[in-house]
Amino acid sequence: MPVPALAPYDDANIFARILRGEIPCRKVFEDDHALAFHDINPQAPVHVLVIPKGAYVSWADFSANAGDAEIAGFVRAVGQVARELGLEEPGYRLLANAGIHAHQEVPHLHVHIFGGTQMGAMLP
Ligand code: C5P
Repeated sequence: MPVPALAPYDDANIFARILRGEIPCRKVFEDDHALAFHDINPQAPVHVLVIPKGAYVSWADFSANAGDAEIAGFVRAVGQVARELGLEEPGYRLLANAGIHAHQEVPHLHVHIFGGTQMGAMLP
């Protein structure tokens, strides 16, 4: 079920549980601000999720309420993961679903990194 982007943070969501180590993930990167892991249901040859370690539901929540160091750390982590996955050339796609219209399923901010194939032009 899609979740509202402005819902209060629910500590029981699956990515919070992954961050606490209660549920395993196929980790590709971790630092003080971010964790990245392979999506359990990949939609491209490379499909990795990058999540901030703080408790934020959506990009709106994160950009309004996270500290500058958290924001910088998370944005840098997304770029570093794409680089370390060897995706810079010929390229990759970033996607962050927010709320019901975008079918956000997990109410903890995540950026999808898609790569490893020629993708189509993306339109809603
Ligand atoms: O952006 P959205 O919220 O729709 O995407 C959630 C993503 O989290 C899905 O791509 C789903 O496959 C992934 N997921 C995961 N591991 C889980 C639960 C969901 O990788 N345990």
